[in-house]
Amino acid sequence: MYRSIETECVQAGYSPANGEPRVLPIIQSTTFAYDTPEEMGELFDLKKEGFFYTRLSNPTSDGLERKITALEGGSGAMAVSSGMSATTIAILTLAGAGDNFISVSTIYGGTYNLFNITLRRLGIDCRFVSNDSSEEDIEKLIDDKTRAIFIETIANPAGVVADFEKFSAIARRYGIVLITDNTIATPVLCRPVELGANVVVHSSTKYLDGHATSVGGLIVDGGNFEYAGNPRYPLFNEPDNSYHGLVFASVGAAAFITRARTVINRDIGAVMAPQNAFLTNLGIETLHLRMPKHSSNALALAKSIAVHPAVEWVKYASLEGDADHTRALKYLRAGQAAGMVSFGIKGGREGAAKFQKALKLFRIVTHIADARSCVLHPASTTHRQLSDDDLAAAGVPVNLIRLSVGIEGEEDILADVTEALDASLR
Ligand code: PLP
Repeated sequence: MYRSIETECVQAGYSPANGEPRVLPIIQSTTFAYDTPEEMGELFDLKKEGFFYTRLSNPTSDGLERKITALEGGSGAMAVSSGMSATTIAILTLAGAGDNFISVSTIYGGTYNLFNITLRRLGIDCRFVSNDSSEEDIEKLIDDKTRAIFIETIANPAGVVADFEKFSAIARRYGIVLITDNTIATPVLCRPVELGANVVVHSSTKYLDGHATSVGGLIVDGGNFEYAGNPRYPLFNEPDNSYHGLVFASVGAAAFITRARTVINRDIGAVMAPQNAFLTNLGIETLHLRMPKHSSNALALAKSIAVHPAVEWVKYASLEGDADHTRALKYLRAGQAAGMVSFGIKGGREGAAKFQKALKLFRIVTHIADARSCVLHPASTTHRQLSDDDLAAAGVPVNLIRLSVGIEGEEDILADVTEALDASLR
């Protein structure tokens, strides 16, 4: 509807009618009243649009869902309680026990654990590949029960930029849904649907909120996958006896998100609270201003620490010479790679501890991607459940320090990190 993503960040999703609140209001109500049972029946039959119970939909979440739909260029979206629930629901919408899917291994540690342990226990087999695996090696893992391919646009914390061309070509060839986690890039830096993704998931907890106030997740239907007649997706092509015998493929462009909402999340109930939807929507209003600043601060920092004697290596896709630099230029807006910079500190775990203790501006938090700069050592925190082999497979070596570069002044950011690196050598 709008020409620029900047305007969509500010305006998309909610437009008040005459005399209504200018700002998307918080509708803190679990339920909605109707005059006749027939009207409510039509809502249940999806014959009429409207709200009846906040576990299914809510006007505040709806405003946020419309905004992210516009930003990602999809056909519909659903706001959920966390990034983890977004990924879980996306997979469960497509797959059940006995099915399998393919995922790159360099993904967020929580997602890796979900795929490697929890979904396996439910009978859904994840087959891991590398972002650099050959097409042939990936194709060998595909069979008639393969229901999805999962990638992460910019992997947290490995910093790998997904090879969209390769994965979307395979997904198209085999008629498989391609899902990407677009949390770190956000739609300001990458629009995966234009690169062949069919479903986009977000931890909105990160840059979309941007201020570390609200845990949340978003699932966007790209509206660009034909479920009708595709034998991989009986769940979409056979009458669903858990939803009035509806054949979801008949819903058309929004088939995926409709099934995700009316079957999977109706049953799981991982819903985003209206207050969090309000805060996330407010955060996105400045996303287009924050992402370039996160990216320029991060690039300046990456360049500066790359030559520091306490640093073994730096991983940041916008750095010239980085293994992902070409992909960053190809897939990320102006080659900007957001605010997450990883580096290997000399001195292993001890060096990592000294460095973190000496930081003043960067605080140690289990978080990334808000306005404030922060730091984490994954091997001793988020990824501590992984073995050394799993750590290596996930692209998270033991000496990896993850910096989330905020939108403070560049001079302060550089000074804080440099002084702490100096201290780590003492
Ligand atoms: N995906 C990515 C890339 C993440 O970084 C995270 C959390 O750090 C998640 C998913 C999980 O999101 P949440 O913490 O909102 O459940």
